[in-house]
Amino acid sequence: MTIAVYPGSFDPITNGHIDVAVRAAHIFETVILAVYDRPLKNLLFPTKKRLELVREAVAGIPNIKVDSYSELTVNYAHKMGATVIVRGMRAATDFEREFQMAHINHLLCPHVEVVCLMASQRYSFLSSSAVKEIAQLGADLSNFVPPHVERALREAYGQRQEGQT
Ligand code: ADP
Repeated sequence: MTIAVYPGSFDPITNGHIDVAVRAAHIFETVILAVYDRPLKNLLFPTKKRLELVREAVAGIPNIKVDSYSELTVNYAHKMGATVIVRGMRAATDFEREFQMAHINHLLCPHVEVVCLMASQRYSFLSSSAVKEIAQLGADLSNFVPPHVERALREAYGQRQEGQT
């Protein structure tokens, strides 16, 4: 049985992340969608909220589990019995970072392989930061994130939601 960890900041989870997670779940018996607790980024959502949004996004897919972690990703993968780390690859801009991280991870833990899934064409432009920028400007997010994530973004930016008076 192959266990794969799909790590990321997921601040917040987008349709592009969900697409990669679902496709990974077709390949591997178990996928652990792992929310990194301490990314070197300014976060909008605390870990608890990012986890909650991820959980709701993949609820109903029995072989996707959700967790958070704060150690080195390869150490976490090893601890969970995973032999694969899944990453999503959008454009050439992702390549250099993923390439470097994959090699570092391989040196740190040769038993864990990094598998990159190419972003689906319709999500290849999508990132959490773009979604936050669009949300801040109050535009429609329905093509980019599930409704519960859109609600959380509106709430975070103090915006009224449709149907509210
Ligand atoms: P990180 O901070 O680790 O890059 P992210 O949450 O931004 O975390 O992304 C997690 C993973 O998902 C990364 O491998 C990233 O390249 C990938 N990813 C992000 N957006 C998309 C998308 N739209 N389609 C496919 N993969 C994506």
